[in-house]
Order: sequence, then structure tokens, then C-alpha cells
Amino acid sequence: MADYDVIVVGAGPGGIAAAYGLLAKGAKVAIVEENLWGGTCPNRGCDPKKILYSSVEAIENSQFLQNRGLTGEPKVDWPALMAHKREYTSKIPTGTKQGLDSAKIDTFYGHAEFLDDNQLQVGDQVVTATDYIIATGQRPAILPIEGKEYFQTSTDFLDLDELPKSVTFIGAGYVAFELATITNAAGSDVHIIHHNDWPLKEFDQSLVQELVTQMKAKGIKFDFNIDIQSIQKNGNQYIVEDDKDFSLQTDAVFSTAGRIPNIDSLGLENVGVGTLKKGIQVNHRLRTDNAHIYALGDVVARVGNEPKLTPVASFEGRYLANLLTSESNRPIEYPTIPSVVYATPKIARIGVSPTIGKGDPDDYIVKDLDLTNWFSYFRVGEKIAKTRVVLDKQTHTIVGAQALSSTADELINYLTTVINKQETLEEVKKEIFAYPTIASDLPYLF
Ligand SMILES: Cc1cc2nc3c(=O)[nH]c(=O)nc-3n(C[C@H](O)[C@H](O)[C@H](O)COP(=O)(O)OP(=O)(O)OC[C@H]3O[C@@H](n4cnc5c(N)ncnc54)[C@H](O)[C@@H]3O)c2cc1C
Repeated sequence: MADYDVIVVGAGPGGIAAAYGLLAKGAKVAIVEENLWGGTCPNRGCDPKKILYSSVEAIENSQFLQNRGLTGEPKVDWPALMAHKREYTSKIPTGTKQGLDSAKIDTFYGHAEFLDDNQLQVGDQVVTATDYIIATGQRPAILPIEGKEYFQTSTDFLDLDELPKSVTFIGAGYVAFELATITNAAGSDVHIIHHNDWPLKEFDQSLVQELVTQMKAKGIKFDFNIDIQSIQKNGNQYIVEDDKDFSLQTDAVFSTAGRIPNIDSLGLENVGVGTLKKGIQVNHRLRTDNAHIYALGDVVARVGNEPKLTPVASFEGRYLANLLTSESNRPIEYPTIPSVVYATPKIARIGVSPTIGKGDPDDYIVKDLDLTNWFSYFRVGEKIAKTRVVLDKQTHTIVGAQALSSTADELINYLTTVINKQETLEEVKKEIFAYPTIASDLPYLF
């Protein structure tokens, strides 16, 4: 007989949600972690980043109101900001472990690897379960170029004692945009280098271009269509070069060219679990090629290409807790999922993109709204606020939106509810929202 009903491998947001969900339904469950309890998001991802970003928001809001009632701009004190971040992150691993212990979820610390016959090796122990959930997440990709040993990663950035005077990010995905925004607000010189001229490719490119213009105006330098081939150390600095005539000297170089799934050295070949480039291959019930092994969160190559984000991993954890305790046998059904890049301004998206909407005028209407002079934005002195809303032509419900403003995250969250509930303008108008707020603007977006 197996030691557990379910063993979860990886104690990030997805694995933890699965473990607590299974426990609540009476399953005997254990969880394995080889690094920091709590995983990427609270230790080296979303939460520490958002703490550092708080200073950016404060500075930005004060800049908006310069000459409109405020004088004197606040400045970032990096060591104090980092201490604020560490006050939070230092408690995460212990707090997470204590929570699991007091809930009576068994914990194993060490690297997990599948052996033949569906057994799991953790350090020098072997444990067994009827079912397993792989929730091992991703790690930063390091570009395989000459001098790659000089690269630092987002994990290093989020724990820097001192911020270097000049910082270079190679790869213009959401991590680069966010960390560059923080670096710039803290007063350092920033470069983002990208191999093509199509950064943040999941987002509406007209809004991305506007975002790039805004970031350039703040002093962030973008070098597009540059394919970096080498990093050389030069005293305390680094020289990054392509194979043509691009050369840049910088104090620190970060690889922000994507993230790769943690699938190696898990012994997946021993248990017949197949993988794709984006991670573990699963079906619509998150089941792998092995009938007793499931996968969730960032490590999964999702059938529908849903974004790799914390709330998606937790959603899948709750889904699998129901599935594995026979509460439901239905395939996973995701709601429409929002995605935000915390730059200045923020850019956010959900649902059908304006490009798809414009390309299919029989089915969709795309509304381009400049919100800059709307009361919510005028009030704070915001210089630029835009949104592109996609409406279903027949039902006149909102099916997609992208936004660029300091409150794009709030707006997109309200629209998440409107979209997922398929609310019409009349239904939205039945709500009474506090006024004047981003929520009370909603009826004017239809
Ligand atoms: C800089 C940064 C900023 C981000 N910002 C946001 C944001 O603003 N919003 C958002 O929603 N998402 C954000 N994310 C993404 C978010 O962190 C992930 O989507 C989320 O953590 C995924 O959860 P997970 O449980 O799938 O994996 P993880 O959180 O990565 O947890 C996986 C765990 O498995 C462990 N593990 C791996 N292999 C083994 C093994 N063989 N044995 C035992 N343990 C193992 C790892 O140590 C890790 O603790 C950010 C990520 C980064 C890096």
C-alpha cells in the first residue's frame, strides 16, 4: 500500500494550493521542496518585485502632480527599500513550512526524482503515493553565449544589497520591463537589449510602442534588433557585444530572455512522462502520459497556452484537489485570464486582442479610448492613459481589453469580472460603484 494518497512535488503557489485542497477533502497528502518553501512568487517573483515597485508608484504619482500642487520629488533609498522587501521575504519559507506542519501535511525537504514503478526518491528516502502532482515551476533562462557565467538573473536582482550605477537587461519580456522600471526609478542607468523589435509580444503593439516611448522619456534605453553574442569582464564592468558593431559597457548584466521549466533530473523518463519545449505535456485534466502523474503551474506546457502566472497555478491546484478526490471528473475550464506588466505606465490585457478584433469586423467592434482627460486620470495629473476595448458585435458585451495607465491593473481586474460574467452595459449599470473611481468609469467603456 502506498504511503500517501497524493505526493505533491514543489511547494510554490500551485503545489501548496493542491496540498491544502487535497487535505480539506480528506486525502493523505505530502509535499516535497528542494529550495525555499513558498516557491518563486513570494520568495523571488511577484511579491518582492511588487514591494520594490511600490517605490516606483509613489515616485510616479508625485511626478504627475509636480506643478499641480506638489513640489519636491521623493528619492529611492535602495538599502532601506531592500530591507522593507526582506522584512517580508525573510519570513516566507519558515511561515510556509509552519503552516504545512500545523495543518499536518507531511513535508519532505530535498530534490525529488521519480524511480521506476512510480516511486519517488527524495534525498536518501523513497516514498510512494497512489497519485503524484508535479508542480516544480520554472527558472530563469540563461542565454548560451560566450561569457554567460557573468549573467545575473531576476532572483539576484530582487536581492541586491546595492543597485549598480548602470544595469543591462538582455531580453525584453515582462521581467525586463518591470526590473528596468524599478532600476530607472532608483536612479541607475538602464539598457534593455532585444533580438527583434517586437517586445512584450503578447500585448497590443500600439500600446507597447506607447509604453516604450514613455519609458524612453524617463531615460531607459532600448536597443532593438541586437543579438548579443558575448559578455567580457573589464575590471569591475562588463562589455556586451553582438557580432556586428554593437558594444556596451555596463556594471551588471541580467539574462531576462524567458524562463525554462524545471523538468530535468526529475526522472520523468523512468515513469514515461512526456515533455515539450514549454514543459510537461498534459491533457485537459492536467494528466501526464502516466495515468497516476499530474502536473500543474509554470512547469506545464498548457493545452490552451494560458499564461504562466501565480493565480493560474493556484487555480490548477484547486482543480486537481477536486479531481483526485473524485469531487469532479470534468476537464479543466479556465476563466478569461488577465495579465499585467508593472512598468510605468502599467500595461494590462485580457481576452480577445484588438488585433484579432480589427481583423474580424463581422464579429467584433474595437473601441480606442484616450482616457487621459477622464476625471480619474486628470485628477492625478496622469500624462497618458489609453485603452482598447473589444466588443462582441452581436451581444455588445466586452470580450477583450488592453490598457495603458497607472491604474491599468485595476481597470483590467474590473473588466475580468465583466467579461467572465458576460455582463451587458445594462447589467453593469445595475451596480452602484463608489464614485469617482476606476470602477465607476466602467459603463463608459462600452
Ligand atoms: C521576477 C518575477 C516576477 C513575477 N511576477 C509575477 C506577477 O506579478 N504576477 C504573477 O501572477 N506571476 C508572476 N510571476 C510568475 C509566478 O512567480 C509563477 O507563475 C508562480 O510562482 C508559479 O507557481 P508554481 O507553483 O507553478 O511554481 P514555483 O512557484 O516556481 O514553485 C515550484 C517549486 O518547486 C520546487 N522544485 C523544483 N524542482 C524540484 C524537485 N525536483 N524537487 C523538489 N522541489 C522542486 C522549486 O524549488 C520551487 O519552490 C513572476 C515570476 C518572476 C520570476
